[in-house]
Amino acid sequence: LSDRLTDVFNRLGSKGRLTESDVDAGLREVRLALLEADVNFKVVKDFVARVREQAIGEEVTKSLTPGQQVIKIVHDELVHLLGDANVPINESKNREQPTIVMLVGLQGAGKTTMAAKLALYMRKKGKTPLLVAADIYRPAAIKQLETLGKQLNIPVYSEGTEVAPPDIAEHALRQARINGNNFVIVDTAGRLQIDERLMTELQQVVERIGPTEIMLVVDAMIGQESVKVAEAFHAKVPLTGLIMTKIDGDARGGAALSMREVTGVPIKFLGTGEKTDAIEPFHPDRLAQRILGMGDVMTLIERAEQVYDKDEAKKMQKKMRKGTFDFEDFLGAMNSMRKLGPIQQILGMIPGLGKQMRQMKELDEALDDREMKRIEAIIQSMTIKERRNPDLLKDPSRKRRISVGSGTRIEDVNALVKQFREMQRMMKRFSKGGQNPRDLMRMF
Ligand code: GDP
Ligand code: MG
Repeated sequence: LSDRLTDVFNRLGSKGRLTESDVDAGLREVRLALLEADVNFKVVKDFVARVREQAIGEEVTKSLTPGQQVIKIVHDELVHLLGDANVPINESKNREQPTIVMLVGLQGAGKTTMAAKLALYMRKKGKTPLLVAADIYRPAAIKQLETLGKQLNIPVYSEGTEVAPPDIAEHALRQARINGNNFVIVDTAGRLQIDERLMTELQQVVERIGPTEIMLVVDAMIGQESVKVAEAFHAKVPLTGLIMTKIDGDARGGAALSMREVTGVPIKFLGTGEKTDAIEPFHPDRLAQRILGMGDVMTLIERAEQVYDKDEAKKMQKKMRKGTFDFEDFLGAMNSMRKLGPIQQILGMIPGLGKQMRQMKELDEALDDREMKRIEAIIQSMTIKERRNPDLLKDPSRKRRISVGSGTRIEDVNALVKQFREMQRMMKRFSKGGQNPRDLMRMF
């Protein structure tokens, strides 16, 4: 999937202008990407229509290819749909009154695990949490919470399986006030399906304790199904937040987008693993990138936007294609690369291309940040003639002079010349293979 988007990226990029058919071709792939990421069909349809309208006629930012421009619009719109920014947890405004978080959701969604994660997370923020075991239908559930509490050294309130959940919740709240717990997390029972009796019980708990925050916990792996779940719960209890768990699995998490759309309720946390510290506050831009399978392309685009000189790049592209790229160009490229940041980081950010380049181990090493200073010294010790005509460097006496001049070993000079040749060869291969030379330029 990620490869496919990279393809679109390159294909669109090879053209000079953002036409209607470019946008449509790109959006066809985006539509598939979204559907595969479990975004609801209707949401996708509206989304694509909106982006299309926006993309056509938009001027392409200098230093971005048209393909990147489309992706940027898609990405920005996704972030917007996901709520733009992180929405923090609601807290009690009354100092006397603890914050009460109630977790609801289907069985197996990860409520009990999330209750413990949230308790740990809030304790790190200076709160004194109390966990409440209000799932009385499975004795194992109480035990599970108690075990987690013991492990984290966080108190757990329980009354076994005989007392009704609304009563347990109320008693727990009283206990919290007495013991000075200012953050109460109520773990509730789930069913395999939406169940009227369970909903009624949840409503009773809500009425009795008036939670500050009611969060629906949803397993990312259930995909499209989550939309129905979110709708059903929201119809019965006033949700104030969504939590998506098991995001460490294969699911791309597009369902979060649909849930947010149908309920209007913000996503607040993600569960990223089985351990109790595997919790992340939700960030729309990160999930947008995950849904699109883009790596950190946006970060790269933003950075490239700042330093990228189009005309300079065009000149270099031409040289690469013709195979006349020399050591002088190398030096110039290295300087603009330095502005972009550590090369390793940049390599990793380019989907597809990055992987390809990483396989060129020698080149990778040559471009390693720590090596840059040495390379620069060597090139600076070359005469202009040598820089423009690297063939002259076949002469051992020239290499010796350069090595002495730059304070490096003769092997270093040899290695650089060899790597340079390799790179020249690769450049020719890339430009023949129809790769977008601009993307290759970004390597430098
Ligand atoms: P509950 O029935 O909603 O209370 O769900 P549990 O908290 O008991 O979790 C069900 C299963 O999912 C357990 O095996 C958890 O270890 C697992 N689980 C919960 N959250 C995550 C998560 O974020 N990632 C992964 N990989 N597993 C999780
Ligand atoms: Mg549970």
